[in-house]
Amino acid sequence: MNLRSRFPLLVSQPDLVFLDTAASSQRVDVALEAVDKYYREMNANVHRGLYPMSEQATEAYESVRGVVQQFLNAGDEREVVFTRGTTESLNLVAHGYGKQVLQKGDEILISVMEHHSHLVPWQMVAEETGAELVFVGLDEVGNLDMDALHGAMTDRTKVVAVTGLSNTLGTVVDLKQIAEWAHDVGAVVSVDGAQMAAHFPVNVQELDVDFFAFSSHKVYGPTGAGVLWAKREHLDLMEPIMGGGGMIREVHMASSTWNDVPWKFEAGTPSIAQVLGMGVALEFLMEIGMEKVEVHDRELMEYALSQLDQLSFVRVLGPGNADQQSGVISFEVDGVHPHDVSAI
Ligand code: PMP
Repeated sequence: MNLRSRFPLLVSQPDLVFLDTAASSQRVDVALEAVDKYYREMNANVHRGLYPMSEQATEAYESVRGVVQQFLNAGDEREVVFTRGTTESLNLVAHGYGKQVLQKGDEILISVMEHHSHLVPWQMVAEETGAELVFVGLDEVGNLDMDALHGAMTDRTKVVAVTGLSNTLGTVVDLKQIAEWAHDVGAVVSVDGAQMAAHFPVNVQELDVDFFAFSSHKVYGPTGAGVLWAKREHLDLMEPIMGGGGMIREVHMASSTWNDVPWKFEAGTPSIAQVLGMGVALEFLMEIGMEKVEVHDRELMEYALSQLDQLSFVRVLGPGNADQQSGVISFEVDGVHPHDVSAI
């Protein structure tokens, strides 16, 4: 499979080796075409017009929920909320769910390897609700300290916030085990899937986590689109964090009522073109098969780690084996500043 040929930027720059995919991937051809096609052929707002183009745009936009449902193996496409990316999705969990359930004395159990987008929203919500953040560290090689995590779970734990795959150390996290423990104490599990979605098959029903967030731009789609998947019962309980068009059922002068799930969380004109691009990017990945992606990633990881291992002046930071690490390798070079290493 010549996948490089599917990426117009890589085709136009044949010598380019792009190693910053964890930050944002290149875009696959079908995603670029979908964005272009929307603007050229069916450009109209969604959920508002009764003329054919608007209906066509609405239908195309809504059909992406089914694609995401398939990608995550979710039970119901109405559990799929479109956002502008992982950061917005995780803010929606913290502000929309966290503020409904957390009070003084409650605890949010969170790993020290969370991205800012999964730490700062919980800091804000902890401050507002009086709940406390409890941090779980890593063991000496960079795996999440599962014993400490389990040991820290009590009936005060209401939320466990954890990444599925670390963007810094490449650490793979056993989400299924965490969900089992969390549910035993009555807590929910919020997963930052920004990196995981690009590297592993995701099955939210099997993992039995409660929230899963990811961004289109890390799975070969456009920027400006992303997903929050959550169990229906949580979405029903959550309050919207943005008011505006499309998220309301009735509007009166003094108050309003909310639309059904998931639309109550999608205020304003959404990222229509970007969501369409995300849909075809996910289809592209599913055509390859995420199982194949995982195997290929593993081979690359094994190869890269074995090559680095031969360099006595390089120290890998992180698990350092392909069973526990994926997608990225952090390392240091004896006596050389990291800025110099990356520049060279
Ligand atoms: N979580 C992880 C693990 C990430 O790698 C990133 C992106 N660097 C984010 C969250 C934030 O994603 P976004 O900027 O698309 O909202």
